[in-house]
Amino acid sequence: MLKQVQQDRIFDLFEKKKIFKLVLGLGNRSCEEIYELSRIYAAAGCDMFDVNASESAIEALKRALKETGREDALICISIGLEGDIHTKKAVVNEKKCCGCAKCAKKCPRDAIFIENGKAHVLAERCIGCGKCKCSAISYVSEESSLPEAVRLAKKYNADCVELHVSTKKSPKSAIEFILKNLDCPLSLCLDRRFYSNEKLAKLIKKVKKLKGDSNFIIQADGVPMSGGDDSLNSTLQAVAMAHLVQDFGTYILLSGGTNSKTAKLANDCGLRFNGVGVGSYARKIVKNLPFDEAVRAAKELVSSVF
Ligand code: SF4
Ligand code: SF4
Repeated sequence: MLKQVQQDRIFDLFEKKKIFKLVLGLGNRSCEEIYELSRIYAAAGCDMFDVNASESAIEALKRALKETGREDALICISIGLEGDIHTKKAVVNEKKCCGCAKCAKKCPRDAIFIENGKAHVLAERCIGCGKCKCSAISYVSEESSLPEAVRLAKKYNADCVELHVSTKKSPKSAIEFILKNLDCPLSLCLDRRFYSNEKLAKLIKKVKKLKGDSNFIIQADGVPMSGGDDSLNSTLQAVAMAHLVQDFGTYILLSGGTNSKTAKLANDCGLRFNGVGVGSYARKIVKNLPFDEAVRAAKELVSSVF
């Protein structure tokens, strides 16, 4: 019974309207930021919140939803498989670092600071975007724990779990584990740069076979964590990815470089899609604004999805 209630809730909404999803970030463990962003976007009418699989992050989101009277909002818990770009964290080799601070200037998350002539990374803020590239910096993958994610999805009655599966490792066993242990809908986040057209078709067909239906979501990820601006160029790959997956009968959300132009471009291209998830751009437009101004900016972005 629980399965039916949850599936109706998310898929019914998809049938009624195109939704806006705030991507809080798989690698973002800054609870203070998660709370503030969630408060702003909840007040702005955001339909769904995508948060990483950690108790403290989900608690920060739930607190914001309660305080804004938006406990009706959908919650998606994001899980990263080893190697997926969303699971990466920057690590500094102090022996090679000269403290020039170029990396800190490039970081969109203020995740790097210089102390005693060396760069240091605030892991809870780092989202693995790779913009700090330097010979003294490498990236390590922090895979989510599947049993822990399942426990949290059950505890918080998640509306959806999203697996980030752009990795060399086959995602089959992780998908089977989620299908076996959870009743809530599944979303697969697929990175355009990682999947060839053939590989994409093969994976989607495999999941349809495992599930026995096409009632799952494909998050068509254009260029992950690239959405710093509001250009058509930034969102082009997300729209292209949605175009590739639209004939498989699944639900589709666009993400990766998404912005206020995404839905219009997808509509102009005649695409079938169910909503847009926005991360980097959504965070950028409200940064350092007083609450009321931030809500106004967020509302404009939320209402760009139609
Ligand atoms: S990590 Fe690289 S870019 Fe950053 S301060 Fe050190 S040498 Fe400069
Ligand atoms: S630039 Fe990206 S990868 Fe580098 S520290 Fe900042 S958030 Fe992490």
